[in-house]
Amino acid sequence: MAIEVLQADITRLDVDAIVNAANTSLLGGGGVDGAIHRAAGPQLLAACRVLNGCETGEAKITPGFNLPARWVIHTVGPVWHGGVRQEAQLLFNAYDNSFQLALTNGIKSIAFPCISTGVYRFPKTEAARIAIKAMQQYQDKFSRIIACVFNGEDLALYQKLLAEL
Ligand code: ADP
Repeated sequence: MAIEVLQADITRLDVDAIVNAANTSLLGGGGVDGAIHRAAGPQLLAACRVLNGCETGEAKITPGFNLPARWVIHTVGPVWHGGVRQEAQLLFNAYDNSFQLALTNGIKSIAFPCISTGVYRFPKTEAARIAIKAMQQYQDKFSRIIACVFNGEDLALYQKLLAEL
Protein backbone atom coordinates (compact mmCIF):
# COMPACT_ATOMS: atom_id res chain seq x y z
CA MET A 1 0.00 0.00 0.00
CA ALA A 2 1.08 3.56 -0.62
CA ILE A 3 2.53 5.64 2.17
CA GLU A 4 -0.08 8.15 3.33
CA VAL A 5 0.66 11.63 4.58
CA LEU A 6 -1.91 12.96 7.00
CA GLN A 7 -1.86 16.30 8.82
CA ALA A 8 -3.45 15.38 12.13
CA ASP A 9 -3.14 15.01 15.88
CA ILE A 10 -1.72 11.48 16.06
CA THR A 11 -3.67 10.76 19.27
CA ARG A 12 -6.91 10.86 17.23
CA LEU A 13 -5.96 8.25 14.66
CA ASP A 14 -7.88 5.00 14.56
CA VAL A 15 -5.06 2.65 13.58
CA ASP A 16 -3.64 -0.52 15.11
CA ALA A 17 -0.61 1.35 16.45
CA ILE A 18 0.68 4.87 16.79
CA VAL A 19 4.37 5.49 17.33
CA ASN A 20 5.50 7.75 20.14
CA ALA A 21 8.64 9.90 19.83
CA ALA A 22 9.61 9.21 23.44
CA ASN A 23 12.75 9.87 25.46
CA THR A 24 14.99 7.21 26.99
CA SER A 25 13.15 7.29 30.34
CA LEU A 26 9.80 6.42 28.69
CA LEU A 27 8.22 8.39 31.51
CA GLY A 28 6.62 11.06 29.35
CA GLY A 29 7.71 14.47 28.17
CA GLY A 30 6.59 17.35 25.98
CA GLY A 31 5.53 17.47 22.35
CA VAL A 32 3.91 14.42 20.87
CA ASP A 33 4.95 12.30 23.88
CA GLY A 34 2.99 14.53 26.27
CA ALA A 35 -0.02 14.56 23.96
CA ILE A 36 -0.05 10.74 23.75
CA HIS A 37 0.19 10.32 27.54
CA ARG A 38 -2.61 12.85 28.11
CA ALA A 39 -4.90 11.16 25.60
CA ALA A 40 -4.09 7.58 26.68
CA GLY A 41 -4.59 8.30 30.38
CA PRO A 42 -2.49 7.44 33.46
CA GLN A 43 -2.45 3.71 32.74
CA LEU A 44 0.04 4.42 29.96
CA LEU A 45 2.60 5.83 32.39
CA ALA A 46 2.12 2.83 34.66
CA ALA A 47 2.72 0.48 31.72
CA CYS A 48 5.83 2.45 30.70
CA ARG A 49 7.34 2.42 34.21
CA VAL A 50 7.92 -1.32 34.13
CA LEU A 51 9.72 -1.20 30.76
CA ASN A 52 12.94 0.20 32.29
CA GLY A 53 13.44 2.85 29.65
CA CYS A 54 14.50 2.50 26.05
CA GLU A 55 17.83 3.06 24.28
CA THR A 56 18.06 5.53 21.42
CA GLY A 57 17.05 3.80 18.19
CA GLU A 58 15.20 0.99 20.00
CA ALA A 59 11.44 0.50 20.47
CA LYS A 60 9.04 -0.91 23.07
CA ILE A 61 5.30 -1.53 23.01
CA THR A 62 2.36 -0.90 25.36
CA PRO A 63 -1.41 -0.95 24.96
CA GLY A 64 -3.06 2.28 23.85
CA PHE A 65 -5.49 2.41 26.79
CA ASN A 66 -7.89 5.35 26.15
CA LEU A 67 -6.54 6.03 22.67
CA PRO A 68 -8.42 4.89 19.57
CA ALA A 69 -5.18 3.07 18.65
CA ARG A 70 -4.87 -0.40 20.20
CA TRP A 71 -1.09 -0.10 20.69
CA VAL A 72 1.57 2.51 21.29
CA ILE A 73 5.07 1.77 20.04
CA HIS A 74 7.50 3.93 21.98
CA THR A 75 10.72 4.68 20.18
CA VAL A 76 13.54 7.07 20.97
CA GLY A 77 14.99 9.14 18.17
CA PRO A 78 18.43 10.75 18.46
CA VAL A 79 19.09 14.26 19.67
CA TRP A 80 20.74 16.16 16.81
CA HIS A 81 24.38 17.02 17.56
CA GLY A 82 25.38 18.26 14.12
CA GLY A 83 25.48 14.82 12.52
CA VAL A 84 28.64 13.53 14.21
CA ARG A 85 26.98 11.01 16.53
CA GLN A 86 25.45 8.59 14.01
CA GLU A 87 22.17 10.46 14.19
CA ALA A 88 21.04 9.35 10.72
CA GLN A 89 21.60 5.67 11.50
CA LEU A 90 19.93 5.99 14.90
CA LEU A 91 16.89 7.69 13.38
CA PHE A 92 16.61 4.96 10.76
CA ASN A 93 16.89 2.36 13.54
CA ALA A 94 14.02 4.04 15.43
CA TYR A 95 11.73 3.60 12.43
CA ASP A 96 13.06 0.14 11.58
CA ASN A 97 12.75 -1.25 15.11
CA SER A 98 9.24 0.22 15.40
CA PHE A 99 8.23 -1.60 12.23
CA GLN A 100 9.83 -4.85 13.45
CA LEU A 101 7.94 -4.65 16.74
CA ALA A 102 4.73 -3.92 14.84
CA LEU A 103 5.22 -7.02 12.69
CA THR A 104 5.80 -9.30 15.66
CA ASN A 105 2.57 -8.00 17.22
CA GLY A 106 0.40 -8.52 14.15
CA ILE A 107 -0.08 -4.80 13.57
CA LYS A 108 -1.32 -3.95 10.08
CA SER A 109 -1.90 -0.19 10.27
CA ILE A 110 0.60 2.20 11.84
CA ALA A 111 1.14 5.96 12.11
CA PHE A 112 4.40 7.76 12.81
CA PRO A 113 5.04 11.33 13.95
CA CYS A 114 8.09 13.21 12.59
CA ILE A 115 10.50 11.62 15.09
CA SER A 116 13.38 13.77 16.41
CA THR A 117 12.37 16.88 14.45
CA GLY A 118 10.87 18.77 17.40
CA VAL A 119 12.92 19.52 20.51
CA TYR A 120 15.55 17.01 19.33
CA ARG A 121 16.27 19.37 16.37
CA PHE A 122 17.04 16.79 13.65
CA PRO A 123 16.97 18.66 10.28
CA LYS A 124 13.51 18.14 8.83
CA THR A 125 14.38 17.27 5.24
CA GLU A 126 16.96 14.64 6.10
CA ALA A 127 14.65 13.22 8.78
CA ALA A 128 11.79 12.94 6.30
CA ARG A 129 14.04 11.18 3.76
CA ILE A 130 15.05 8.65 6.41
CA ALA A 131 11.43 8.13 7.49
CA ILE A 132 10.28 7.55 3.92
CA LYS A 133 13.17 5.17 3.20
CA ALA A 134 12.19 3.01 6.18
CA MET A 135 8.49 3.19 5.28
CA GLN A 136 9.20 2.04 1.73
CA GLN A 137 10.99 -1.05 3.03
CA TYR A 138 7.86 -2.17 4.93
CA GLN A 139 5.21 -1.02 2.46
CA ASP A 140 4.13 -4.50 1.36
CA LYS A 141 3.78 -5.79 4.93
CA PHE A 142 1.19 -3.27 6.17
CA SER A 143 -2.29 -2.23 5.06
CA ARG A 144 -1.65 1.40 6.08
CA ILE A 145 1.54 3.32 6.82
CA ILE A 146 0.80 6.91 7.80
CA ALA A 147 3.30 9.74 8.08
CA CYS A 148 1.35 11.87 10.57
CA VAL A 149 2.55 15.45 10.20
CA PHE A 150 1.49 18.16 12.59
CA ASN A 151 2.13 21.34 10.65
CA GLY A 152 1.86 22.63 7.10
CA GLU A 153 5.63 22.79 6.62
CA ASP A 154 6.02 19.06 7.24
CA LEU A 155 2.95 18.32 5.11
CA ALA A 156 4.50 20.11 2.12
CA LEU A 157 7.87 18.45 2.74
CA TYR A 158 6.51 14.89 2.81
CA GLN A 159 4.25 15.51 -0.19
CA LYS A 160 7.23 16.81 -2.17
CA LEU A 161 9.53 13.93 -1.23
CA LEU A 162 6.90 11.28 -1.95
CA ALA A 163 6.09 12.85 -5.31
CA GLU A 164 9.79 12.61 -6.23
CA LEU A 165 9.92 8.84 -5.73
P1 ADP B 1 11.35 14.87 19.48
O1 ADP B 1 11.74 15.01 20.92
O2 ADP B 1 11.56 13.46 18.96
O3 ADP B 1 11.97 15.92 18.61
P2 ADP B 1 8.74 16.27 19.55
O4 ADP B 1 7.51 15.77 20.21
O5 ADP B 1 9.40 17.48 20.12
O6 ADP B 1 9.74 15.01 19.48
O7 ADP B 1 8.44 16.54 18.02
C1 ADP B 1 8.29 15.53 17.07
C2 ADP B 1 7.23 15.93 16.06
O8 ADP B 1 5.93 15.69 16.61
C3 ADP B 1 7.23 17.40 15.64
O9 ADP B 1 7.12 17.47 14.23
C4 ADP B 1 5.96 17.95 16.30
O10 ADP B 1 5.41 19.01 15.53
C5 ADP B 1 5.06 16.75 16.25
N1 ADP B 1 3.90 16.71 17.15
C6 ADP B 1 3.69 17.35 18.32
N2 ADP B 1 2.48 17.04 18.83
C7 ADP B 1 1.90 16.17 17.95
C8 ADP B 1 0.65 15.47 17.88
N3 ADP B 1 -0.28 15.60 18.84
N4 ADP B 1 0.40 14.69 16.80
C9 ADP B 1 1.33 14.52 15.82
N5 ADP B 1 2.52 15.13 15.83
C10 ADP B 1 2.80 15.96 16.87
